[in-house]
Amino acid sequence: MSTVEYLRAGDVTEAIALVSADPDAAYLAGGTTQLDLMLKDGVVEAGTLVDIGHLPLRGTEILGDTLRIGALTTMAELAADPVVVDQRLSLVRDALLAGASPQLRNMATIGGNLLQRTRCRYFRDRLVPSCNKRSPGSGCAAVHGPARMHAILGADRNCIALHASDLCVALVALDAKVGIQGPDGQRSVALTEFYVLPGNSPDVENVLRHGELITHVDVPLPTAGIRSEYLKVRDRASYEFALISAAAALVIEDGVIADARLALGGVGTVPWRAREAEEVLEGAPANNRTFRAAAEAVLRDPYTVPGTEFKVELARRTIVRILQNVSGVQS
Ligand SMILES: Cc1cc2nc3c(=O)[nH]c(=O)nc-3n(C[C@H](O)[C@H](O)[C@H](O)COP(=O)(O)OP(=O)(O)OC[C@H]3O[C@@H](n4cnc5c(N)ncnc54)[C@H](O)[C@@H]3O)c2cc1C
Repeated sequence: MSTVEYLRAGDVTEAIALVSADPDAAYLAGGTTQLDLMLKDGVVEAGTLVDIGHLPLRGTEILGDTLRIGALTTMAELAADPVVVDQRLSLVRDALLAGASPQLRNMATIGGNLLQRTRCRYFRDRLVPSCNKRSPGSGCAAVHGPARMHAILGADRNCIALHASDLCVALVALDAKVGIQGPDGQRSVALTEFYVLPGNSPDVENVLRHGELITHVDVPLPTAGIRSEYLKVRDRASYEFALISAAAALVIEDGVIADARLALGGVGTVPWRAREAEEVLEGAPANNRTFRAAAEAVLRDPYTVPGTEFKVELARRTIVRILQNVSGVQS
């Protein structure tokens, strides 16, 4: 068994310096993903873990028309924060509470949630040799083997591994931005640009460079009159990842959809912003015909394997259902 050095960073600058200087080092926040992958599954290695859990990147604050969430805020803390509901962000709370278990949410941080790794069972089984995400160029066992909790959007024969976060689906719908600090300074990246489609390099999942630290997430406050929801469809009612999930936010004026945001989980290799659907929705009457057309637009060209074909119809129905729920239109 290989040894791992544990370091506790004194402050943000030291944390970044420690990880940047060592290609074999990784950050440790709540540890619910990192330690699982290293110690339980044995598919990720790090010679040094730099603990950041105690750094002062915790809590929320309102900055003008933005909610800033510290990266080390736990999922439980954010879900319980009254500001989230006061600021018309209850879909964020609902997405958080639909994820993991109370014990995990007490440990798991927002930054770590964004960076959680796929639940693809082939990626997480070190005895499976073919995984382009783990061993670039080795193939994708999931495409040829039994698959179910896998992606149908943004997927191809190189990789069908799913991004399984619930929170990110709500954040992508709300145009959240990721605050990043690295050895060369700070930058901010839209969450929709943060993740990278697998393409020919499924091992590259996001634009974060080695050593860069997520310091916060900024969420623009929704306008008054917005109606929103997070809907998660899964095999059992709690402690289960999504088969399909959706986050929707609509502004409806005189029966017409003035503004539409829609994002999907459980279907994409990245948290999926459904822009094609939004184009169909905006300016159209809020009725079932519009909702069905929006669902069709998202699912025009899915990549399925025998085990994931059912997701196409399930996704269509989930989209129609959430749009009905949010708009109050009857089925
Ligand atoms: C059994 C189980 C069930 C789960 N179910 C769900 C679910 O239903 N829905 C859902 O959304 N999630 C679910 N999760 C995922 C869970 O939300 C994540 O594991 C958790 O949010 C990760 O946060 P963490 O603080 O523990 O991260 P860690 O495990 O500490 O870190 C995760 C990764 O992020 C890096 N990292 C952490 N923080 C930072 C930072 N600030 N800057 C840069 N890098 C950083 C680490 O180096 C590591 O690579 C589940 C997890 C488990 C184990």
